[in-house]
Amino acid sequence: MKKLFLITLNILLYAFSVNAQDDPRLTEVWNPVPGVVTPGKTVTDAPSDAIVLFNGKDFSKWETVNDAEIKWKLENNAMTVSDGSGDIRTKQGFGDCQLHIEWRTPAEVKGDGQSRGNSGIYCMSRYELQVLDNFNNRTYSNGQAGSMYKQYMPLVNACRPPGEWQSYDVIFIAPHFNADSTVKSAARITVFQNGILIQNNVSIWGNTVYIGIPKYEMHSDKEPLILQDHGDAVSYRNIWIREL
Ligand code: MG
Repeated sequence: MKKLFLITLNILLYAFSVNAQDDPRLTEVWNPVPGVVTPGKTVTDAPSDAIVLFNGKDFSKWETVNDAEIKWKLENNAMTVSDGSGDIRTKQGFGDCQLHIEWRTPAEVKGDGQSRGNSGIYCMSRYELQVLDNFNNRTYSNGQAGSMYKQYMPLVNACRPPGEWQSYDVIFIAPHFNADSTVKSAARITVFQNGILIQNNVSIWGNTVYIGIPKYEMHSDKEPLILQDHGDAVSYRNIWIREL
């Protein structure tokens, strides 16, 4: 009883402490834990009507967010985050789309939790589909691979081991705004990881944020796709998109 009282007291003290609202842990969900499913072996090549965003040869469809030269490594038909070189984005903007993207976390496992093979795919430069090595790597469920970061945990953990290529197939529906910048309809996303459904037409809450509650901010109908440099040598290949 005394122990329960002390735990409750600690929680209350914490919740009311001055900086509690600035604590990123407030938006972490650790339970439940998505079950593990082992994927089959599939590769999806671009169909005839797709815009090929990356075929392993060059960065012609990409730019940095600050107009600098792209410093990501280009080798073996893949591009790899070069630590500290920054996010990259597509030159073209996209709204409603079907996206195929393949990614690989480093074979050499370093760090744990959010520090193991972290990157991310930002639809419309704002809504992050998390890329992370969650093969035997626990973090908060709504921040693991396949989560809409800090909004929706994946339905299952469909991760392949580090060093192996895996895929996301995404159906993204852009949000719409009223003239007064209020939300007319929220963005929606469906995601298959390695062919397994992990997000089923969920309604996105707003811009992805590390701390605090997501909010929408009005933006245009088409915005670039961003790939995140989170300091880990995550690779991407075979990226194509179909506008819907
Ligand atoms: Mg990330």
